[in-house]
Amino acid sequence: MPELAAFSDSYAEARRKFVEAARRAGAKLTSYQHPDQRGPAGEALYLDVSVLGPGDASRVFVVGSGTHGIEGYSGSAAQRAWLRGRPRLPKDTAVIFFHAHNPWGFAHKTRVTEENVDLNRNFIDFGKPPPANPGYEALHPAIAMREWNEDSIAAAFAQLDAYREKAGEKAFSDAFNGGQYTRQDGVFFGGARPQWSNGAFRAAVETHLQNARKVAFLDLHTGIGPWCEHIYICFHAEGAPARERARAWWGERAVNLQGVTHKKLATYNGTIIDAFAEMLPRAEAVTSIVVEFGTLPRRDMQRAGLAQRWMRFEGPRDPVLAAKMRREYEAAFYPAAPEWRRAVLEQSQDFIDRGVAGISSS
Ligand SMILES: [Zn+2]
Repeated sequence: MPELAAFSDSYAEARRKFVEAARRAGAKLTSYQHPDQRGPAGEALYLDVSVLGPGDASRVFVVGSGTHGIEGYSGSAAQRAWLRGRPRLPKDTAVIFFHAHNPWGFAHKTRVTEENVDLNRNFIDFGKPPPANPGYEALHPAIAMREWNEDSIAAAFAQLDAYREKAGEKAFSDAFNGGQYTRQDGVFFGGARPQWSNGAFRAAVETHLQNARKVAFLDLHTGIGPWCEHIYICFHAEGAPARERARAWWGERAVNLQGVTHKKLATYNGTIIDAFAEMLPRAEAVTSIVVEFGTLPRRDMQRAGLAQRWMRFEGPRDPVLAAKMRREYEAAFYPAAPEWRRAVLEQSQDFIDRGVAGISSS
């Protein structure tokens, strides 16, 4: 299965493959190095930006990977495979790939940054009081479990389920994963300050997108949706022109939440796609979309989130348990199954092509 060589086992390997594919495709590469963090093997960490096509193109399609660190392994493989397909672009169109928005999490195989921050909740205005999330405060004691075993996990889920039944699905999602700014040892922590990855992303957008008039941004994730399928999450309001463009380019499923495995999605604070649009006030049209490759059922993903927090803050003092938890966590966000990885490649080449065709004809 030579096509599965697009996938990597480490951040350094993924970066090497991405950089090589970008150079071979004739893309121009700009790298933003993290000043004081390294990967687990001591490797340097970067946000890498490849620009294929004219640097002053008025139509630009951007594909980002690794907003949630470990989720970047599949996004990186999709980006590399597309570049290796020797793409030819329409006139006045550029394709920009942002590789590893959160390289620390990518390298350390976790969703979060070096400060346990969910980068996709970090793009708030830190000059103002952060959004309150009283629901999370109610859930935190259950989430912050001291021991990790099947009994303690069941007890935590019993408390989460009780809250869900009382408050409803939407309020539960808002509380659990909408983002919170009070517990740095919690889950979906949006941070007490902008992360390095936040600043690097803003610098890259300012450098590469200021001439663009028509822009689209597709951010690649994993963990929501059915196994071996991708789903779309569109945050543009009903009736907005951007929502209609997403529908025209990717079909009805781009806007109808087909396949989304959350009963109700949270209202998210501080997302990267909101920040992206706000940074481009002179663009005539900005279309943004999140694409998720489905992995495991939602409960398993919630368990993975609790495991990540526990591994970081509570233990593990038992190396056998630590290794088992790490394997489970990685399988939740970056499955090794060949059929899953083939599905990522097949589906991503199609939806990236659709985005390029869409931006060039809009
Ligand atoms: Zn994600």
